[in-house]
Amino acid sequence: MKTLLAITILLFLSACTHNKKLSKEEKAFKYTPAGVLVPSNSGRGRVGDNYIYAPNIRFPIEEAPAYINSQVYGVGGMHGKRGSLCSKENYQYPWHDNYCEKRPWGMPMCPSGKGHQGVDIRGATCEDKKYHAVAVEDGVISYIGKYSVSLRGKTGRTYRYLHLDFKTLQVRRGQRVRRGQRIGLVSNNFGNTKTTIHLHFDVKETIVVNGYSQKVFVPIYSSLVDAYKRLLKGKP
Ligand SMILES: [Zn+2]
Repeated sequence: MKTLLAITILLFLSACTHNKKLSKEEKAFKYTPAGVLVPSNSGRGRVGDNYIYAPNIRFPIEEAPAYINSQVYGVGGMHGKRGSLCSKENYQYPWHDNYCEKRPWGMPMCPSGKGHQGVDIRGATCEDKKYHAVAVEDGVISYIGKYSVSLRGKTGRTYRYLHLDFKTLQVRRGQRVRRGQRIGLVSNNFGNTKTTIHLHFDVKETIVVNGYSQKVFVPIYSSLVDAYKRLLKGKP
């Protein structure tokens, strides 16, 4: 009898945790599947690959909301609908994967062998130098280029943050950083020219592709969906 009571209590408690209410922000979050590129003429992604290549990373922008979608094919983009880059359409759910979007880069993991090396993320609004990019795990700043910052994480993966404002960069080469530590502000820095205001984020790791071990840019969208859900839960 006591056992039965204990089991009933356990079942009740587990039901309670499963039914834990989602916050308004968690409910609002929508995303289309990994590998499905929008619009469809923007390239071919890895449809069906939902593997989380970078488990438990922190979302690379400090605060939600943030929006993953195409810069080139979005409103105001080079191949997008005409309109303002600040258009509401660019700043709303659902997210759309843009890893493998049409680019000239050689990409062993993209169906066409070429494509976008990571994903592009917009902050909550189109304001410049307002949203902080942060370290996704503990590591060392391994490289700073003209418009890119690389973080070599303790897992061995290398994360790149592109287009941050370099005048307000908060890290230097060789610096140790902790997960969540601010790196710089999301901007449109593209060296001597400008791009749209967004963070390009990509991840390189050594995995077996096409039969041999190589260091490649891995699909990162599913890992970011996972990280974002934790951010929305308040447990980044
Ligand atoms: Zn990009």
